[in-house]
Amino acid sequence: MYKAKAFSAHSSTSPLARTSISRRDLTELDVQIEILFCGVCHSDLHQVRNEWKDVMPTVYPCVPGHEIVGRVTKVGPAVKKFKIGDLASVGCMVDSDGTCQACKEGEEQFCPSLILTYNFPDKYLGGVTYGGYSDSIVVTEKFALHVPENLNLAGAAPLLCAGITTYSPMKRHNVTKGEKVGVIGLGGLGHMGVKFAHALGAYTVVFTTSEKKKEDALRLGADEVVISRDANQMQKHAMSFDFMLDTISAQHDVNAYRRMVRLRSRIEAQAAQSSECLQELCALSLMSDVCFQDSCWPPQGPGCVGCT
Ligand SMILES: [Zn+2]
Ligand SMILES: [Zn+2]
Repeated sequence: MYKAKAFSAHSSTSPLARTSISRRDLTELDVQIEILFCGVCHSDLHQVRNEWKDVMPTVYPCVPGHEIVGRVTKVGPAVKKFKIGDLASVGCMVDSDGTCQACKEGEEQFCPSLILTYNFPDKYLGGVTYGGYSDSIVVTEKFALHVPENLNLAGAAPLLCAGITTYSPMKRHNVTKGEKVGVIGLGGLGHMGVKFAHALGAYTVVFTTSEKKKEDALRLGADEVVISRDANQMQKHAMSFDFMLDTISAQHDVNAYRRMVRLRSRIEAQAAQSSECLQELCALSLMSDVCFQDSCWPPQGPGCVGCT
């Protein structure tokens, strides 16, 4: 066991403060990473403020952070993927059972024994796991990823959560050149969604309530920006999208977007939704020819009943 510097919250109302935390000594398959950058995800704020108390109550002190990029400083004797000096990154998960159907299919995020990067039981040291608002972390090599040396490391960190959260559904639904993709909201997830949709060759339309975000959306690769409060602008796009990515976590009118997609198209809700919002998505799926799929977070089970 060794000490690492960290920022932690001691209650749902206290600001983050400097602290010192324990990290485990390396086991056979562990790598130790000096953390160089860590993104700030909205989930960090939710958990520090204990806003998911119904499904995932926060244990204090809480050290958030799951968009971690750094350099390997030590490796366990059986580690094969990394050597000292390699760049490495850690996302939202640090362990799973490795034996269930989800793990066998490479979908560890649905493992019933999944261990998240922070605020989950720490089987090595007791207490809960601590995240990336720290100068060091120890993780089994299976849950560490390589980072190309030519990337801007600060810019790469958000790929570990916001990035994969938006990239994954677009790949799953084969978003390709010539398709029309809508990205609803332009925050942490939305800006990644725009970049991916644009890079995949899709005609990319951003929906935002804020006129002020228009320039940013265009700069990030949007072909068009729709101010969602403007009914005329919305009407122009009725039944025209092949795929929509909903990145808004606040309560909003999902039904308005149901009318935007072609028949048998998909809307994926990727932001951390309230359970009322998820129920609404499921209901809409059942009563329309559009598949709403959520990657509900906090986790309430994979997929949506309307899609099965
Ligand atoms: Zn996140
Ligand atoms: Zn599993």
